[in-house]
Amino acid sequence: NERDFSCCRIVVLGSSGVGKTALTVRYITRRFIGEYCPTLESIHKLQTVVDNEDTRLEILDTAGQMMDSGCVWKDYYAFWGDCYIYVYSINDRQSFDQIVNFKKQLESVRKQTLCGILVGNKSDLLHDRQVLETDATELADEIGCKSYEVSAADWTQVDRIVDLFSDAVREYRKLRTSR
Ligand code: GDP
Repeated sequence: NERDFSCCRIVVLGSSGVGKTALTVRYITRRFIGEYCPTLESIHKLQTVVDNEDTRLEILDTAGQMMDSGCVWKDYYAFWGDCYIYVYSINDRQSFDQIVNFKKQLESVRKQTLCGILVGNKSDLLHDRQVLETDATELADEIGCKSYEVSAADWTQVDRIVDLFSDAVREYRKLRTSR
């Protein structure tokens, strides 16, 4: 069974309430919808072009229970994904502190380095900031990811959100050609 490399599977991970669904929906529909079903987990399939190359994307928007002990989904996420988008919210320190563990857990299941993108969402909530941009760049260096700060709620940032999903595809292509 040959793996189809024109397909890229992206897993969107992070604590609940950080905006995983808002970001995913913003990317796919270019729209922001205020409230989403918090427990619903879904796979979105779409066709897109990144750097003139066709890609079929499958985006798994997780329901944020991964840190629960005995989470049966962890192994599934670890083997399903080609690239991981780790989302925290800039006004939620705990959501940031958990990212390292998410990545470690996935890699210990998969037994190899996985590529990912670090995303600080809700950058519109500056007055409530608990995570500095420098904290984010330090963590990004540590875990070997690019980092972004965005706001899914801000329509002027749609291009940046498209960029970060495209970067996820690029990271996957880079890793794939290096193996
Ligand atoms: P998930 O549990 O990580 O999927 O988070 P959701 O996408 O369901 O979002 C949780 C809450 O945060 C919702 O009330 C969203 O409207 C809100 N939210 C999501 N993104 C942003 C953002 O960029 N800025 C602000 N202010 N609120 C956001």
